[in-house]
Amino acid sequence: MTVIDGVLEVITARQADLGDGMLMRRLLPSRGRRTIGAWCFMDHFGPTPTGGMRIGPHPHMGLQSMTWLFEGEVVHHDSLGNVQAIRPGQLNIMRAGSGVAHAEKTPDSHRNGFHGITLWAAQPDWARHSQPAFDHFSSLPHLTLGDAQALLFMGTIDGETAPAYSETPLVGAEILLQPRGVIRIPLQRTFENALSVIQGSVVVNGKEVLPGSMVYLGTGRDSVVIKTYAGARLILLGGEPFEEQLFMWWNFVGRNRDEIELAAKEWNAGSAFGEVAPMGLKRIDAPEFPWRSAPPPE
Ligand code: MN
Repeated sequence: MTVIDGVLEVITARQADLGDGMLMRRLLPSRGRRTIGAWCFMDHFGPTPTGGMRIGPHPHMGLQSMTWLFEGEVVHHDSLGNVQAIRPGQLNIMRAGSGVAHAEKTPDSHRNGFHGITLWAAQPDWARHSQPAFDHFSSLPHLTLGDAQALLFMGTIDGETAPAYSETPLVGAEILLQPRGVIRIPLQRTFENALSVIQGSVVVNGKEVLPGSMVYLGTGRDSVVIKTYAGARLILLGGEPFEEQLFMWWNFVGRNRDEIELAAKEWNAGSAFGEVAPMGLKRIDAPEFPWRSAPPPE
C-alpha cells in the first residue's frame, strides 16, 4: 500500500495463478484495508482467451455475493433452487443470511474468453441471520460521465439508481473510459470510495495506476477526476464506513471464531446450507480450521 497524498492510498492485489492461464487478483480484503463501506471481498479473474469459471458447491453466510462479468458466461445454481445464467452487463446477487450454498460454472459450450469479478458485501448484524435470497437483473442503468460510459450495479450515481437491494448504503459501478478521456466521477461525501483498475491505466492525482491496484479515496469527497491515455476499465466501490468488527474466514462472514468454526463443521457434515446441483463439479469442503479455541501459545 502506497500513500499518495495522505488521503489516497494504492492497494496492490495479491495474485494467484489458478492454472489454464487464469490469473486471480485479490483486491479485498488486503492487509491495509479490510473493507470499503460494507464491501469486504473482491477477486478479479482473467482476462483469459479460453476457459471460464468452475467453482463447485460451496456455502456462504453473513454476506451478499455478486458475480459481475466483463466477458464470458456463468450459470449459477443454488440451494434455494435457482438456476440462472449471466452475461456481461447483468447481475447475479445472492443474499446468504443464515446460510446458502451455490455453484458457478461457465457452460462447456462457451468457447470464448472469460473476465470477471466476484464481490461480497458484509451483512449488518440486524440482517445477517435472515433467510437467504437470490436475484438476477438482466439490464441495469447506463450512465454517461464525460468521456466514459458507466453501468451501475449497486446504489445511486447522478440520479440513476440500480435495482439491487442492499442492507447498508453502497455504490458499485463499472466505468469504461475512452482513450485520452477525462472524467469527474460524482461521489457521496459520507461514503468511503475506491477505484480498481481492471484494464488499461488511469492517472489519479498525477499517479499512474495499473490493473491489480485499487485506489482508496477515503471519505468527504464530492467527486474524483480521473484521466487516461490508453483508455481504461474501472470498478468503483463505495459505501458508508462499516463499523462492525468482522470475523471472515473461507466463505463465511461472521463476528467470532466459534460461529465460523460451527458453520464449517456443519457444511462438511452436510447438516446445513442445503444441496446444490453440482453441474459436474466437485463439492468443496471447508479446510481445517486454523485453531480450535485459542491461538497457539508462543
Ligand atoms: Mn460463492
